[in-house]
Amino acid sequence: MLNQIKEHIERCDIVLVFAGAGMSADSNLTTYKDTEGFYRDYPLYKELNKSYVSMMSYEGLMNDPYAAWGYFAHQYKLYTNAEPHEGYQKLLALCQSKEDYFIVTTNVDGLFKKAGFATDKIHEVHGTVHALQCSVPCSRTVWDTEGLNVEIDYSTMKALDHLPLCLKCGFVSRPNICMYGDTDESYVWEEADKNTKRFQEWRRQNKHKKVLIFEIGVGADGLKRHLAKYRKEFIHATVIRINPEEDAIYGKDIIHIKGGCRDVFVQLSIMIETKKVEN
Ligand SMILES: [Zn+2]
Repeated sequence: MLNQIKEHIERCDIVLVFAGAGMSADSNLTTYKDTEGFYRDYPLYKELNKSYVSMMSYEGLMNDPYAAWGYFAHQYKLYTNAEPHEGYQKLLALCQSKEDYFIVTTNVDGLFKKAGFATDKIHEVHGTVHALQCSVPCSRTVWDTEGLNVEIDYSTMKALDHLPLCLKCGFVSRPNICMYGDTDESYVWEEADKNTKRFQEWRRQNKHKKVLIFEIGVGADGLKRHLAKYRKEFIHATVIRINPEEDAIYGKDIIHIKGGCRDVFVQLSIMIETKKVEN
């Protein structure tokens, strides 16, 4: 199988990546597919009987912004302190050795940007922890989180005193992430949509090229459905799935590499020679 994979990688013109939470698992960011993982990062929520879904919720934010910001601020610290693992660098080298690439990810941790992937080639489907918007929202603008420093009382998991406020109306702000219970009105989706359009254009321009599609650490069905849809737009497409777990929904036409993202890309990089293409 390794020879077959090597051949696909060498033969492709462009690379399209679909990445889910498993991509960042090797950077010590939990995938939260099980509640134990969530409680490891946020121990007090076990006692408070809170789940990931209840904390990442529009209703929760409106009911108690201090409790919501206790969660958001802790998540922000975890994500901004995380470093992209070696697999990100190997994948970047592979992408840069081809004519072009595009990244589609449900991750909000910003690790693709931090690893050096071009910002106009990353579609962050659910938004990012690195941008804020108004909770009302009084306008459709977002701003970056630079300098964000919300102190948390870890005995209650609530934010202390100063919540980050909207720059325009002074109401409490929130991360520009699509949360549970959000609507098209409450979530400022226009920012993420900029790269939806770039991604559309990228697919249109490249539909005759040989595309290698990586599905990396994807658990959510939503992203899989998108992958299946977009794949049909390309005349020559090969899909390689990287995941420690098997998935019954996949047919034989998908190559499955069982393993963690970091190890797999380190192994692949040993097998193939990547040389940066100067655009
Ligand atoms: Zn506002």
